Amino acid sequence: MDIKGKKISIIGAADSGIAAAKLAKKMGALPFVSDSASRQSILKWISVLENENIPYETDKHSERVFECDFIVTSPGVPSFSGILADAKDKGIEIFSEFEFASWFNKGKTIAITGTNGKTTTTSLMNYTLSLSGFKTFPAGNIGTPFSDVVTEIGENDYAVLEVSSFQLDFIKYFKPDFAVILNITPDHLDRYNNDFELYARSKMNILKNQTSNDVLIYNSDDPNVIDLMPAADVNKYGFSLQKEMLKGSYVKDGNMIFSDLTKETVCAVSDLFIKGPHNVSNALAVLTVAKKIGIPNKKIKSAFSSFKGVEHRIEFVRELSGVEYYNDSKATNVDSVWYALNSFDKPIYLILGGKDKGNDYNKIKDLVARKVKKIYAIGSSANKVYDFFKDIVPTEYKQSLESCVVSARKEAKPGSVVLLSPACASFDMFDNYGHRGKVFKEAVNNLK
Ligand code: ADP
Repeated sequence: MDIKGKKISIIGAADSGIAAAKLAKKMGALPFVSDSASRQSILKWISVLENENIPYETDKHSERVFECDFIVTSPGVPSFSGILADAKDKGIEIFSEFEFASWFNKGKTIAITGTNGKTTTTSLMNYTLSLSGFKTFPAGNIGTPFSDVVTEIGENDYAVLEVSSFQLDFIKYFKPDFAVILNITPDHLDRYNNDFELYARSKMNILKNQTSNDVLIYNSDDPNVIDLMPAADVNKYGFSLQKEMLKGSYVKDGNMIFSDLTKETVCAVSDLFIKGPHNVSNALAVLTVAKKIGIPNKKIKSAFSSFKGVEHRIEFVRELSGVEYYNDSKATNVDSVWYALNSFDKPIYLILGGKDKGNDYNKIKDLVARKVKKIYAIGSSANKVYDFFKDIVPTEYKQSLESCVVSARKEAKPGSVVLLSPACASFDMFDNYGHRGKVFKEAVNNLK
């Protein structure tokens, strides 16, 4: 794609926007970055733009934004925001940062989306491929913007991309060699006018341009995914924990099986170090891609047994007096908590609450009644948590995460689990979920 001399307005001056601006400049275009946030709040980004000599504005989006050939938008900017609506009205084309970066990718692309499990699956995918000798570039939602690495990717290398629905909102040409859809459940509906259909369709954009030469890997256990599957002639491979797949991968008699022209056992479920049925499902997605690339079974097995998981996702912290402590700070929705609770056969002391995104706790009500001994309710949604669960299990309101840990230390019996799996965002009390997880781990490691 030749963008030499093109005027590109970039909306949002954070990681992705800045990376897109640098990429645009490198490719000979004329980027202009616009962010409505105060200059003070984004100083660190501004200094990058100034060093790069890239023009920008802060505190507003002015008319200058519209003086361009097209717009590139950051995933942090909602698709219905005023500036994007105005641009659409003026007939200006809008691309996501992610789509923009993909124009310059010479290598192969594996794109992974879904409501839950993206980071874990992207990390395991990346790990499995790199352990097998491929040069890989993990990017996207996982941390590094695609625009930051895309020009380093060679023909035989793999971009392993974690893709959020926001990044899929403005997809036009993006065409991954492998598209993986893990699951689709309601989340982030605040960004989609509370319309689940709109959110789900956005996720499906990942396969919009795929042809029969490309491979689509989808969760065959998820009715929402099945509902949206294209009848089109893409090369589809399903994965399932519940049933045998003719084309795809599944679990049978404790083994992970891959089936295409023939069926073969790739490894045992017990080879996978990371725990919980949701992670077996994530591993099946990785296994399917790995088999299609031609990675030998013994390499897949060795990757699955040595991959230790990702921080803040049902992360084992320590054992003390027979009680295990787990940090699942990344569980920012009810669905994730459902999976976390299902990962343990032991009684659970659960820390729940934070910034609520419209949670419906009915989904975990029965599971909590069966598995949870006590709930510690924290954060701005503590009252909601308390009101919902108080008649189901003992529930106590707590002021801080540290005080939850101290109480759990006193109350949890040997053989049980203390689990931070809050079902909520963290911004009411912490910078982000990583900060919340670190505070939890520190409190746990300080216990005597
Ligand atoms: P994402 O990047 O999509 O937010 P992560 O890999 O960070 O997903 O996992 C976040 C949480 O989601 C995990 O702590 C776990 O509780 C839950 N989770 C992981 N994989 C799945 C899955 N396949 N289905 C449902 N929940 C999952």
